[in-house]
Amino acid sequence: MEKVLGLKCRECGEKYPKEPLHVCEFCFGPLEVDYDYEVIQKSISRHSIESGPESMWRYADLLPVDGEPTDGEHTGFTPLIRAKNLADALGVKVLYIKDDTVCHPTFSFKDRVVAVALSKAKEFDFDTVSCASTGNLANAVAAHAAIAKLNCFIFIPADLEVGKVVASLVYGPTVVGITGNYDDVNRLCSEIGGVYPWAFVNINIRPFYAEGSKTLCFELIEQLGWEAPAHIVAPAAGGSLITKIGKALKEFHTLGLIDKPNTKIHVAQAEGCGPIVNTYKENGDFVKPVRPNTIAKSLAIGNPADGIYAVDTVRNSGGVGEHATDGEIVEAIKLLAATEGIFTETAGGVTLAAAKKLIDSGHIGRDESIVLAITGNGLKTVEALQDKTDKPYTIPPQLNAFRKLMTEMG
Ligand SMILES: *Cc1c(COP(=O)(O)O)cnc(C)c1O
Ligand SMILES: [Zn+2]
Repeated sequence: MEKVLGLKCRECGEKYPKEPLHVCEFCFGPLEVDYDYEVIQKSISRHSIESGPESMWRYADLLPVDGEPTDGEHTGFTPLIRAKNLADALGVKVLYIKDDTVCHPTFSFKDRVVAVALSKAKEFDFDTVSCASTGNLANAVAAHAAIAKLNCFIFIPADLEVGKVVASLVYGPTVVGITGNYDDVNRLCSEIGGVYPWAFVNINIRPFYAEGSKTLCFELIEQLGWEAPAHIVAPAAGGSLITKIGKALKEFHTLGLIDKPNTKIHVAQAEGCGPIVNTYKENGDFVKPVRPNTIAKSLAIGNPADGIYAVDTVRNSGGVGEHATDGEIVEAIKLLAATEGIFTETAGGVTLAAAKKLIDSGHIGRDESIVLAITGNGLKTVEALQDKTDKPYTIPPQLNAFRKLMTEMG
């Protein structure tokens, strides 16, 4: 019996076969993977998961590949760190970092979604993969495509951080910088996808790709001893990660792997590009697109594909949406480094800055368990800290010079 029934429209429920489709032809709603949980229930247990591989594929029963996964062999199963120093700094008791700054192979949670997308693209017999990206997805698609020996075309805004551009180019794909923002890139890719028969991981493969995000939440629950935390704070760009955190909690409960979760899912965005948080704060029922203007380029999607579903997920969980200014993002990056030794990119700064506000405003209780999803590595966005850190001292190679420096420093 098949665990994946096919695809289903999120809006009208219309069913579709397992194919590279992403939009409902009746109502234009997004399509989602439809599982047969009774079939999955027969093979899944805490024990079966615990004896699986030390990667995101230990949750393969809840991921939409038909055969053995063929990509992302070492992806996921990142550390969940008890953050005692940061907890002291924030004045809370039980704080964890889900540390995807060390996700294999490209140091962001995007390796998870790409592992599913490329396994699926191969099952669909595509020979070329592509994406519209704010940076991390580009890195992940380029790296995983190199491993899989697939042709690869990467489309990014032309003004991305150098680290993210180089960390795509190094794998040898064709990289095309577009003079425009992510939303322009995405629109262009939809048109290109109509002409070239490629697997665009976040367009025509999107329903499958998005499922990979669930593994971040599956892991942190397992790592907490099969218990869901009281709070998860996660960043949003297109809104897929937030939506899939909600789905992951629901699935683990449906399958009897955890008690009914009472987790509040909080969404963090930059003030300079926060359409999802805006909608939450304004109590709106649709997401108004914005023009991005923030140092958090990985989250700079002005017209998020899963925006309203992310808002619904947050609202239904009792969570809150919060913004972070560019200044707060920089301070939070430094705080995480100084307390926990973790260097995150701007998206992690957004998450921590928003979490701090939610604690200070009482939306997160000081003695409740909190997990922060830190989704990407700071070495890719060093520009954000340019002139925002101390400078190194420069001296000649002489002991006296060092002694003099020590005296000057007091
Ligand atoms: C893409 C990205 C996100 C958000 O992902 P969505 O699923 O599009 O909301 C968060 N953090 C980092 C570092 C990212 O690259
Ligand atoms: Zn529909």
